[in-house]
Amino acid sequence: MQPEFVDFHCHLDLYPDLETAIAKCDALRVATLAVTTTPKAFARNQQLARQSEFVRVALGLHPQLVAERAMELDLFSRLLPETRYVGEVGLDAGPRHYRSFETQKHVFRTILTLCAQAGDKVLSVHSVRAAKHVLDLIEECLPKGRGKVVLHWFTGSAAEVRRGLELGCLFSVNERMLSSPNGRKILQEIPNTRLLTETDGPFVERSGNAITPGDVLPTLEAIAKVKDLAVEAVQHQVISNLSNMLRTL
Ligand code: MN
Repeated sequence: MQPEFVDFHCHLDLYPDLETAIAKCDALRVATLAVTTTPKAFARNQQLARQSEFVRVALGLHPQLVAERAMELDLFSRLLPETRYVGEVGLDAGPRHYRSFETQKHVFRTILTLCAQAGDKVLSVHSVRAAKHVLDLIEECLPKGRGKVVLHWFTGSAAEVRRGLELGCLFSVNERMLSSPNGRKILQEIPNTRLLTETDGPFVERSGNAITPGDVLPTLEAIAKVKDLAVEAVQHQVISNLSNMLRTL
């Protein structure tokens, strides 16, 4: 069955009940990438999503957790053959995580290299205050044709967006990102064919409550407004972008 929506970055396992969250994505026909933050979390997600039509589970090692979890890199490499999807991975140079930045670079470089060897992975990548370093490592370690990168909630410059496009990346955008002028400026730099939608739930909130999995309609509406398109046109474009990405990898 064809999906109705795409939520390409959602932490389903950080909602109160993972099974309910998965069921919701299936009921709403949302092609969902369930990102995880540590390799230890992967097995339970994969187990519960095994029968799901629309949820795919990504193996992750979040840059904000690298300081405590770098030793799970071994587990990451053992689990990698079990999924086509990797995330959340990347770099975070924000003030709270800058101390682990060298370890983060080591971990991300290793992950990219493992993905390049496998040759068929799709990655959801975090790049807070580290767009340049993320793009440098992708260029160095993951040649085009050896994997696909989706830059999640990108906050780099217009020139860095163009560099990401040249490296073959897609961009997943969310409601909170598009509520800021800078986020909308970034969106204008992204061609329609390179766009995906995400919630980044439960971290993104709407009127004080966590956004629910798959609730991307406000994001589609925000894209439609910036791009001067009908909401349905954006909705179909995003679905076809996802299927093209998976088909051409
Ligand atoms: Mn996230």
